Amino acid sequence: DPVLRLEGVTRRFGSGETALEILRGVDFCLRPGELVALVGPSGAGKSTLLHIAGLLEAPTSGKVLVDGKDCAGLGDAGRTRLRRDTIGFVYQFHHLLPEFSARENVMIPQMVAGLSRDEAGQRADQLLKMVGLERRSSHRPARLSGGEQQRVAIVRAIANVPQVLLADEPTGNLDPQTAAEVFGQLTRIVRATGLAALIATHNLDLAAAMDRTLELKDGVVLERRG
Ligand code: ADP
Ligand code: ADP
Repeated sequence: DPVLRLEGVTRRFGSGETALEILRGVDFCLRPGELVALVGPSGAGKSTLLHIAGLLEAPTSGKVLVDGKDCAGLGDAGRTRLRRDTIGFVYQFHHLLPEFSARENVMIPQMVAGLSRDEAGQRADQLLKMVGLERRSSHRPARLSGGEQQRVAIVRAIANVPQVLLADEPTGNLDPQTAAEVFGQLTRIVRATGLAALIATHNLDLAAAMDRTLELKDGVVLERRG
């Protein structure tokens, strides 16, 4: 069964004559273990779509179902809880907390979710090791390279064992070689955990390496094989 389903999702900004209808009826679903690319021109609405799928923003109309459950009826607190329990985000810019170490950045969301400092620290160590950062874990973000920062952001996003990973141009700020390495690690993590991942990218080589490609164009999503 799909872990995430969007049905007839629309999103309009503004009202009246000047209203912009960015999404005009988006339908798709993500199943466990799938690695799916989201492509489309700049301004097509990829970020908007990821925000709606991640319960950060409400659609103008249409439904978002997580684990078969319609999120509309949940209320703000319920949606925040569901987001924390099931969804991880990675952005183009890492958004790590600058005054904390890599390890602490991975611990914090776990402690917010109720884990003890010890448990969170152990899991942070495991996760940082998975991406080859065990020797860098005490460094603050500013002392890490761009690729290292993004690897920390990726493991932070999965620290609370989400079912869905949503990523908005996660390698968009990196040089091509680093981008390929970080993408390779992201892929390995998705494969190892059975997560469903939806990854917006401009990089068609990366898109071609995923299981499926969804193309956002003129406000709707089209399935492309590849
Ligand atoms: P993409 O990620 O594909 O580049 P976005 O989702 O960022 O596209 O943006 C799609 C369109 O929606 C853009 O034209 C953008 O200006 C517009 N848009 C996004 N957020 C808002 C907002 N809060 N208010 C008005 N327009 C917005
Ligand atoms: P709220 O609903 O209160 O605004 P958020 O959903 O934004 O809270 O954040 C919940 C938790 O997720 C926080 O502990 C925060 O540190 C963490 N967090 C925020 N952004 C990210 C991200 N991009 N990746 C992983 N964890 C994040």
